[in-house]
Amino acid sequence: MKAIVLHGPNDIRYESGFKDPEPAPGEVLLQMTYSSICQTDIEVWQRDPFGMFTRGRGPRIQGHEAGGIVAELGEGVSSLRVGDRVAVENVRTCGLCFFCRKGTASLCENGRNFGFTDDGGLAELAVWPASMCIKLPESVSNEEAPLSEPTSVAVHAVMQSGVHVGDHAAVIGCGVVGLATLQVLQAAGAQVIAIDTRSESLQIATDMGAVATLNPAETRVADQLPELTNGYGPDVVIETAGATGTALNAAEWTRPGGRAVIVGFGHEPQEIVLSRTVSGEKSIVGSSAANVGEYRKAVDLIASGKVNVKPLISEIVSLDRGIPDGFERMLKPTKDVFRILVGNGG
Ligand SMILES: [Zn+2]
Ligand SMILES: [Zn+2]
Repeated sequence: MKAIVLHGPNDIRYESGFKDPEPAPGEVLLQMTYSSICQTDIEVWQRDPFGMFTRGRGPRIQGHEAGGIVAELGEGVSSLRVGDRVAVENVRTCGLCFFCRKGTASLCENGRNFGFTDDGGLAELAVWPASMCIKLPESVSNEEAPLSEPTSVAVHAVMQSGVHVGDHAAVIGCGVVGLATLQVLQAAGAQVIAIDTRSESLQIATDMGAVATLNPAETRVADQLPELTNGYGPDVVIETAGATGTALNAAEWTRPGGRAVIVGFGHEPQEIVLSRTVSGEKSIVGSSAANVGEYRKAVDLIASGKVNVKPLISEIVSLDRGIPDGFERMLKPTKDVFRILVGNGG
């Protein structure tokens, strides 16, 4: 089959002779429709931050944000039928380790990942457990399906925030995860302020229902937020930018007693004045990937129209053009896209 294969840091190739996968018991064979490329794919391609290749793994097909059509059932599969359209729940947790048994599967020690530890969706075919293929409702298109993954990251962040109906919330960073987070917060009953330096992103945030937008390049956000939120700042701030200083901004801008959730991972060390955070009884919470059940919530939110991912699809390119028109375009410093879908459709 044809596939986009990562052989090592900075070594990605389009190949036409990759061995077709076969479904093991409990798995299904998927004919892939589309996968979207995100910044994590670019990081893994360029720098191998998870140490996949230093641990002797690879070559590996990328594509962790993916959808497909069931083409064959492995032994014992009864939950799906050939022809079902599905989104791939990409984080495969063990259910047995200390953290899984505590109900915190996003911390699983034996986690596997479609497109990282295991071959992913940037191929004609893939295999994955049937229990982790979420059947798509009619109202979710093949194009929207891969965006369930960043939406699941947003669902987890919002669950971590403990937001309540009527709360004031702010989202730092209005890329794909940020704009999904904005909408999930709204679905949870919050009024959301969007913060970003890109005016196009803020325009989309407004279209999606943000009550206000702030551009740190043009205004002092720290002064503006209290004015927009009863005088004290947002109850919840969710940081999705991963830029230098933005995690600290989240902690600083949250009201006393509020909660800052950090989703984006920056590489620079950042220093915090702990006394200000502690005396303000603020919580700083990390959020990584998603917990069991949150991927399905993401699909449901897209299906119901509460989360609109259509404005986040910038480009659709065929599998054979995925490297030049997908990966290489995303690498450009002037990156002008949200998500690029790669695949041959369904
Ligand atoms: Zn991603
Ligand atoms: Zn586990």
